Amino acid sequence: MRLIFIGPPGVGKGTQAERVSKHFGIVHLSTGDILRAEIKTQSPIGQQAKTYIDQGHLVPDDILLTIMEQYLQRPECANGYLLDGFPRTIPQAEGLDRLLQQTHQSLDAVINLTAEDEELLQRLLRRGKTSGRSDDNPTVITKRLEVYRKLTQPILGYYEKQNLLKTVYGAGPIPEITNRILKVLN
Ligand code: AMP
Repeated sequence: MRLIFIGPPGVGKGTQAERVSKHFGIVHLSTGDILRAEIKTQSPIGQQAKTYIDQGHLVPDDILLTIMEQYLQRPECANGYLLDGFPRTIPQAEGLDRLLQQTHQSLDAVINLTAEDEELLQRLLRRGKTSGRSDDNPTVITKRLEVYRKLTQPILGYYEKQNLLKTVYGAGPIPEITNRILKVLN
């Protein structure tokens, strides 16, 4: 099982990705978590990524593709994986397709989680109070939503053309949203 979760910041991608990956017993790869871990250890990648993340910009595609190429080759990914927060641009989606072709793998589905803008904003502002994330503040949140619309939304069409896209409404109780996702995957 190889899945991708796409959605705007605050839609609950991380929470749902955690639950769905557990359900299928597959690896959950969050590029946001990976990058934050790199920043913590002050690795060269982390040092490059920090400026972009703190401003709500995307980290350059070549950095993400290098990271993903390494992660997808790990033995624990052989049974499948759920990509949370990657790809986020058309070049990343094309790069992922190339990686998949090289390893003779294919995707099973792309889940597009949605919610109203006002709901996203409220959730992110609430999360900002406790998350300790440098990018959960009003100015950067607005930027992240804008970047999502401009750079990430176009990949929905990319995956729709491949017949992989499944859209799920992401507001409501957490277990109910998980059930909606599992239902479209069956
Ligand atoms: P997230 O935890 O998914 O909200 O990601 C936090 C931040 O990490 C984003 O705002 C980006 O700056 C960076 N990031 C995560 N995934 C990617 C990606 N696939 N491409 C570029 N930047 C990313």
